[in-house]
Amino acid sequence: MAHPLFAAHHKLEPFWLDDMPAPTLGTPDPPGSADVAVVGSGYTGLAAALTLAREGRGVVVFDAEAAGYGCSSRNGGQCGGGLKPGFDRLSARYGKVRALAMYREARASLEYLAELVEREAIACHFSRPGRFIGAHRPGHYETLARDFETLRREVGLECHAVPRAEQHGEIGSDIYYGGGVIAGHAALHPALYHRGLLERALDAGVVVVPHTPVTRIERAGAGFAVTHGRGTLAAGNVIVATNGYTNAHAHGRGPVLPALRRRVIPIGSYMIATEPLAPGVMERLIPNDRVLSDTRQVVLYYRSSPDRRRLLFGGRVALAETDPGTSGPKLHGIMSAIFPELGAARISHSWMGFVAYTFDHLPHLGVHDGLHFAMGYCGTGVAMASWLGHKVALKVLGAPEGATAFDDLAFPTRPFYRGTPWFLAGAVLYYRLRDQLAR
Ligand SMILES: Cc1cc2nc3c(=O)[nH]c(=O)nc-3n(C[C@H](O)[C@H](O)[C@H](O)COP(=O)(O)OP(=O)(O)OC[C@H]3O[C@@H](n4cnc5c(N)ncnc54)[C@H](O)[C@@H]3O)c2cc1C
Repeated sequence: MAHPLFAAHHKLEPFWLDDMPAPTLGTPDPPGSADVAVVGSGYTGLAAALTLAREGRGVVVFDAEAAGYGCSSRNGGQCGGGLKPGFDRLSARYGKVRALAMYREARASLEYLAELVEREAIACHFSRPGRFIGAHRPGHYETLARDFETLRREVGLECHAVPRAEQHGEIGSDIYYGGGVIAGHAALHPALYHRGLLERALDAGVVVVPHTPVTRIERAGAGFAVTHGRGTLAAGNVIVATNGYTNAHAHGRGPVLPALRRRVIPIGSYMIATEPLAPGVMERLIPNDRVLSDTRQVVLYYRSSPDRRRLLFGGRVALAETDPGTSGPKLHGIMSAIFPELGAARISHSWMGFVAYTFDHLPHLGVHDGLHFAMGYCGTGVAMASWLGHKVALKVLGAPEGATAFDDLAFPTRPFYRGTPWFLAGAVLYYRLRDQLAR
């Protein structure tokens, strides 16, 4: 029996897939050869495929599941242009010049996404309402205001602090100790964006082969032999774009590239959608229609649906991975602590997906044993995956524009880490306790 917070006809799948007909791809027979094989059909894989196909390359994209099955059709649709590590921390680690370049590139990824959506005429409710970040504890407000000052000065970011006395202008909640607004951060409908990319890639001649896992990649002559669910394809180059689904143990497939499995940490992120709310409620809760997050260590993110009738609320609710039937009511509890007036709102959809964290909290792209890869967006890949997918394609083409501020970064792993994050429950518990103690 479902938890009483679930609506009668709730779905344990992404809200975004409502009213979205499945793409009519069938399961085409993959050709025997291609210039480039791409593993993974999310934003990274499709952005790469589109850039390559427009330059006249023959591209085949494989996905073990339906096209876009991974995060790219199930995320929160919040598009930021920042990085996980703060600017000061990044400067201390890599020097100010490199940190500045990385931050500028993160901003460039958001501008690229905006241009791509416009140029390709992808109807996906793209808008740029800006972001409100709530301060979870009193000290966080001062830190946020200081960080904003640095980012304004060093990176030219348009942002301002919002003291607690004024926060009702941004959010209908008393839970935060003030916060801050970053202008220009965007929102989109993630599944429509994915569908648009898929259609443009198909129009450009890309062959997309769903339900066909790639199980092995070996060097063969000057290229690679790509073994997949229905045979072998000879490819001049290969791009691995499997992000949070790289981990074979979690998903029952052979590791395409064991070295990557040791470097990305798959972490479940969970979301719910409420049933449509009464007229006027959303205007009180999120008056400026911004995307929202807060300064907690165990990240929360939320926003309204494109029609402003539902709240879409996401985060991490359990120490170990759980199922959407269990995570839904837990997320609801956190949501109604922020918005008590949603205490009785019922859940229409509950779902999850695997994001890819990295040990240095930075995205990575590069070449390993001749194979190109881009992944590790640490839960913020809508803009960055599109951008680095494009960049990795430029690298395959040998174009100098493929250079990025993330080139040549060491891609760290840890001893005893083989792709199963045994330390995750402990880490989440540690950060959750810090969040609780902070209040
Ligand atoms: C619940 C949730 C909320 C999120 N919210 C946000 C947000 O608001 N903003 C934001 O910026 N980011 C968000 N993210 C993260 C963002 O969605 C991802 O960073 C981004 O979609 C990554 O795209 P990708 O193409 O690299 O990977 P994915 O879209 O995950 O695609 C990887 C694909 O690889 C396929 N694959 C794996 N192994 C194989 C194999 N051996 N053979 C063939 N195919 C294979 C998988 O089936 C999968 O379809 C969220 C993620 C989740 C789960």
